[in-house]
This record gives sequence, structure tokens and C-alpha cells, in this order.
Amino acid sequence: DLLISQIAAGEVVERPASVLKELLENSLDAGATRIDVQLEEGGVRLIRITDDGGGIAPEDLCLALARHATSKIGSLEDLERVSSYGFRGEALASIASVARVSIGSRTTDTQHGSRIRGDTLAVEPAAMAAGTTVEVADLYFNTPARRKFLRAEATEYAHCDEALRRMALANPAVAFSLAHNGSQRRRLAAGDLRRRAQEILGSEFLEHARSVEVGAGPLGLTGFAALPAYSRSGRDEQYFYVNGRFVRDKLLAHAAREAYADVLHGARHPAYVLFLSLDPAGVDVNVHPAKTEVRFRDARAVHQFVFHALQRTLAAPLA
Ligand code: ADP
Ligand code: MG
Repeated sequence: DLLISQIAAGEVVERPASVLKELLENSLDAGATRIDVQLEEGGVRLIRITDDGGGIAPEDLCLALARHATSKIGSLEDLERVSSYGFRGEALASIASVARVSIGSRTTDTQHGSRIRGDTLAVEPAAMAAGTTVEVADLYFNTPARRKFLRAEATEYAHCDEALRRMALANPAVAFSLAHNGSQRRRLAAGDLRRRAQEILGSEFLEHARSVEVGAGPLGLTGFAALPAYSRSGRDEQYFYVNGRFVRDKLLAHAAREAYADVLHGARHPAYVLFLSLDPAGVDVNVHPAKTEVRFRDARAVHQFVFHALQRTLAAPLA
């Protein structure tokens, strides 16, 4: 059983950043309005995440660590229109099979919190504020073969930071903080997308960005797309979301690149943060738990919509 968990973990838990992504999703699913992340040694030594979400009742703490236990899906129909990030109920079980995990939690209607240890499943009382704290220590301590694939601390940290950026852009109403080896790296106040985009992508980006707001039937595209005058910082600044989930999708990237083709010449990459919304039945996000790809039922229509929406926005005369 541990072996099965460890094999499954290999797919979900590629590196500290993939652990952090799962934990961030859980906090957001729990309705958190503030999420604090502390990392040590690029997240390999420690990932500690604290949220002010709904919490877990003491009697459910064991379930949170059990494989295929999710509180988010009640039926197969639910799976068709899942709006939470998580629904498989295997992230925590997988993570607990390859790291030292503990979860402390307190629901708003109780006076006392409880903490569970991933290895013994022992539950003990814990003094804490309402919400949940998950600690993931010593990633891959028991699977040295995997541990070898981890990169330098700075690289793993950079991936963690990127995971947080992706999540923070899609959830501007939630406050985030990030610390690494005891020093504060990010402090993102709750606000709107404009403010969050400015914090994450910089004022330079926002000054040269067009606001995107196009709708056509069930399809919608919102966000910000930089005009060619924006000289980007050098890092990848293409953030595409489908129904709130970050994706790296060939079809969408292609539609965007085509829309930019007339205004952006040469080898330069466009910069944008875009949110595509569509009927959940028209997109399959379940292709792979850890991958960021999706499958559209009507790929052609989606491509055309994104292309035209973006092209029109970029071509509009300056106000
Ligand atoms: P999933 O997110 O797919 O349900 P996970 O393994 O990520 O599966 O989490 C298992 C369960 O643990 C969740 O369904 C939820 O009930 C609970 N849980 C995990 N993290 C939190 C959190 N931060 N706040 C409240 N509940 C949580
Ligand atoms: Mg989850």
C-alpha cells in the first residue's frame, strides 16, 4: 500500500513546487482568505502552509490523509462540473508517503485544534487559530532515487515561487505571503486582478497592458495583455487560465501567438494574464492530475474565439 502510494506520488509529487501547488489548492478550496507559506531549502527541507479556511474536524483528520478520501465530490455527476481545485482525494496521501507530513487544524466552531502525524496517524490536541497548517518535511527522505532528481535549492525555490505566482494571479482576493529560509520574499495583499497583476508582473507590464474583456455566448476572455511596447523582464510571462485553473496549453498558446503576430515581430514572446471561461462540460481538465494540459470539446471554436478576442483588443486604437 505504501508502495502504491509512492508510485502514485511520483506522478503528483514531482518536486517541492508540485507539493506546494496541491497545498495551495487545498487552502483555496477550504475558502481561505489568507495563506502564508514558509519554505526551507527550496521546499525540500520544509514546506509549511497556514490558512484561515474552514478547517478539518478532528474526526476527519485521518480521512484527509487516506487515499481517495475527498470531501469535495459526492457523485459522478459532481465530477462533470467540479468547481473545486481538488476532487481526487489523493494528493495528501501521496505526499505523506514520500515526506514527513503533519496537519494541524481547527474549525471555526471549536475551541481547540488537533494535529495528526502522517506516519503514525496519531491525533493530539494543538493550540492554534481557526484554519489549517500543513507541514511537509524532508521530501523524498524515504525514496533516495527520487531525491536525486531534485535540483539546486535556488532552482527548487524558483519553481515554488512560480507555483505561488500562478495561484496568486487567479485568486487576487486572497492575501498571500512567502518566506524562504526565514526571510520574507513576497507579501501580496488582497485586492483585485489589476493590483495583483501589478504586484506579480510589475508596474511596467500593467502600464503597457490592455484590459481584456470579451464575451461570446458561453465563452469569455478577461485579463490583461501587454502591448508590444512592453519590454518584458525576460521570464515567461504567459499566464493562461481555464475556468480558474492555470494551464499550459498548445492550442491556447497558439491562438494567442497568432493574435500577436501582426503587432509583435521577431522572436519576442507576448506577455499576458488571461482567463478563459466556458461551460465546464466543454473542457476536460482531468487529463492528468499534475499536468497543466486540458482538452476542449470544440477546440476550433475555442481557438477562434481566443484569437479574435485578443486580436481585437490589441488592435483597438489607443484611448
Ligand atoms: P482533494 O483535494 O482532491 O479532496 P487532498 O488529498 O488534497 O484531496 O485532500 C484531502 C481532503 O483533506 C480534502 O478533501 C479536504 O477535505 C481536506 N483538506 C486538505 N487540506 C485542507 C485545508 N487546508 N483546509 C481544509 N481541509 C483540507
Ligand atoms: Mg487537494
